[in-house]
Amino acid sequence: MVIVVGSGIIGSWIAYLLAKSGYEVYVFEKSENAGDGISGRNSGVLHSGIYYDETSLKSKLCFRGYEIAIPFFEKNKIPFSICGKVITTGLSESSEEEKDKQVEIEKLLSNGKRLGISGIELFSNPGSHWKHVLGNSALWIPKTGIVDVPSYLKALWQLGEEAGVKILKNKKVIREDGGVFAIDLQTKVKEELDADCFVNACGLYSDELLINDSKGNKFEIRPNKGEYFRLNKQLPYETLVYPLPMKTSTALGVHYTFHLGGDAYAGPNSNWAISKDDYKMNTPRKVYFESLRKITDFYKEEDLSEGYVGLRPRLFLNGESVKDFVIHKESNWIHLLGIESPGLTSSPAIAEEVVGMMV
Ligand SMILES: Cc1cc2nc3c(=O)[nH]c(=O)nc-3n(C[C@H](O)[C@H](O)[C@H](O)COP(=O)(O)OP(=O)(O)OC[C@H]3O[C@@H](n4cnc5c(N)ncnc54)[C@H](O)[C@@H]3O)c2cc1C
Repeated sequence: MVIVVGSGIIGSWIAYLLAKSGYEVYVFEKSENAGDGISGRNSGVLHSGIYYDETSLKSKLCFRGYEIAIPFFEKNKIPFSICGKVITTGLSESSEEEKDKQVEIEKLLSNGKRLGISGIELFSNPGSHWKHVLGNSALWIPKTGIVDVPSYLKALWQLGEEAGVKILKNKKVIREDGGVFAIDLQTKVKEELDADCFVNACGLYSDELLINDSKGNKFEIRPNKGEYFRLNKQLPYETLVYPLPMKTSTALGVHYTFHLGGDAYAGPNSNWAISKDDYKMNTPRKVYFESLRKITDFYKEEDLSEGYVGLRPRLFLNGESVKDFVIHKESNWIHLLGIESPGLTSSPAIAEEVVGMMV
């Protein structure tokens, strides 16, 4: 019997694949609305994997995840669109910055080619191909899409239940005095849990179930805030528009994205949150607009209104930032740590990896 803790996109994929492989699976979820964690507060983008070093888990699992996800969406009628993505150098403040960006975009192109991502092209003067996109050069990546995340999660929960997964809500799992317990958050009743294997898919809270490993390493998740502003209109074409990724962080920079229902957003930026439930928008619209206007001149400041906030589960190991996903097996626990972007894209492949670790 396997207990999966957390029913975001990661725990749900793991539970579903385990049940399909013949395991008896229980999911313990502390929330009533499971889609309200990281999985319900992101850009909904299916990434090509162009940003990641080919030796990284992010690269391997993003590729594989994308491959599994597309036929899964088709089969289960989950709304998605392979809309492609433009990564532009955007406006620069100096010739030095512009030179630097040209080097960066060339590097990204080489990485994409090395990884075998099909159809990538480098355009000069992107504004003549995509009206209102600013910058001297841009990469076009046809292999990128968006998915309707609420429908994706709903389909996974349903398929999981059909395969035999039992989802228990309002149950918070804790580790205490060498044991594992579930506290029912409504009745406050505490019960001890026993399983052949536990899977920690707690997103922002996964460090609470693995503070130190057997070698004394300390894992810590720090919440990094990404704010989204709603845009009052969509660009005149259905394509995502991104700046070059941030050099100092794993964030991809404030970009233009849209949801399949018709809403358009700018986001997310990257700032440290004060806690794991700090969903407050802090950035003034004027400041935020400065990031967006570097990649497109389609919007005026008054076209932006407050949207939503997502929190990235930034992983630190012994105080040092870890940029890759970590899947850590220790006794009868498999821990998933630092599953930030491209976690949504990678989720089916992360689940395959975990199922493979069961044997
Ligand atoms: C701003 C932002 C934008 C992103 N954009 C993209 C994107 O465009 N494309 C992409 O591929 N990825 C993206 N990601 C990454 C992706 O959203 C995440 O990797 C993924 O959603 C993580 O899912 P999860 O299941 O690990 O976490 P969650 O969805 O947070 O699920 C964890 C669950 O565990 C539960 N839980 C926690 N602790 C306990 C406990 N002790 N007991 C019981 N239950 C517990 C929580 O209630 C929660 O439901 C983005 C992330 C952010 C923050």
